[in-house]
Amino acid sequence: MSQAIELIRELSDAGASPKATIAKSMKETGKEAFGCFPIYVPEEIIYAAGYLPVGLWGGHPDIKRVDRYIQSFCCSIMRSNMEMGIRGDYDFLAGLVIPTYCDSMKAILANWWVAVPNAKPIPFSVIQNRASKGSLDFVLAQLATFRKAVGELRGEPVSDQAIEDAFALYEDYRAAMRAFTKAAARVPATITPTLRHLIIKAAYYIDKKVYTEKIKALNEALAAMPEERTEGPKVIVTGLLAEPESFLDLFTENGYAFMGDDLAQESRQFRTEARKEGTALERMAYRVLDQRGDTFYYEDDKSRGTMLKNMVKETGSDAVVVCMYKFCDPEEFDYPVYKKELDEAGIPILYLEIEQKMDSVESLRTRIQSFAEMLSLS
Ligand code: SF4
Repeated sequence: MSQAIELIRELSDAGASPKATIAKSMKETGKEAFGCFPIYVPEEIIYAAGYLPVGLWGGHPDIKRVDRYIQSFCCSIMRSNMEMGIRGDYDFLAGLVIPTYCDSMKAILANWWVAVPNAKPIPFSVIQNRASKGSLDFVLAQLATFRKAVGELRGEPVSDQAIEDAFALYEDYRAAMRAFTKAAARVPATITPTLRHLIIKAAYYIDKKVYTEKIKALNEALAAMPEERTEGPKVIVTGLLAEPESFLDLFTENGYAFMGDDLAQESRQFRTEARKEGTALERMAYRVLDQRGDTFYYEDDKSRGTMLKNMVKETGSDAVVVCMYKFCDPEEFDYPVYKKELDEAGIPILYLEIEQKMDSVESLRTRIQSFAEMLSLS
């Protein structure tokens, strides 16, 4: 138990302090940091080149300069990232990758060259049609282009063996994370919603090898603990991300147990297991093609609703909590589709509109509390 508490404290502190954690990781590994914009980028290639990939998922800067470059109705992740880029917060990064999952990111990519002239982002084009004959070749071509650009930045090509090794490490990390989300659901009083989030988030700032060893040790320590119950509802959480921490604290206060998540910042990063056959690059490409139920990868049959229903059933959850990130168009477009399916299945939904930087979460407190009370009566 004491080992679990120590690891929980260490990883959650790391997740809560990105800047300090990145600085520590750089010092410990001797690596230069490479910034990765949301949602998914080929981190394995960055790692294989000898960089420390770090996630750039917004922050809480005072917005002063960004309105010259992007509209006020862009999401706060992109506004924060750009503000921090302009004011020099990212000057320490050796490189930066910006993918094109949505219109906001395309605008950022175009404007970054003007707004932050000393940082030259590497673009990463996102596949739109994953079901055509040429889809695999398209993703492989994008990976090859990215690999070349990272190699040029590094001053030497990224070798096949280094990519194989990095991919194996990332697969190990992803398997450990899938195990962690299951282990956390067994002990929801210990791994509260806030701690769960911070522990998962810490992976964006720590070298993957170091982080994977720690999360495996935590999984073992959690497995040795007796199963726990909380007084509140058991839920599946869906959306882009669930932040800020003060928002998650409201769930903790009301005894919610997060039984699983479909958050882009969390499980969507690691829930898709790679195929067994092929080179590392082919397996990376297939992970893109095989990801299901994801807002950011188009599917004709829109499987997110079915996936959420299955998650509720498999985990014995009571409801789905939707964390709708303000101004995130892709997530907003998906909502009516899966809501209809959850309604038809009689699964209660708590819909909450959030932003990373909220002056107060008090308006959400009553809704989270009353939803728990409503479920306890049903
Ligand atoms: S619109 Fe959504 S997907 Fe695009 S950057 Fe903003 S939060 Fe991310």
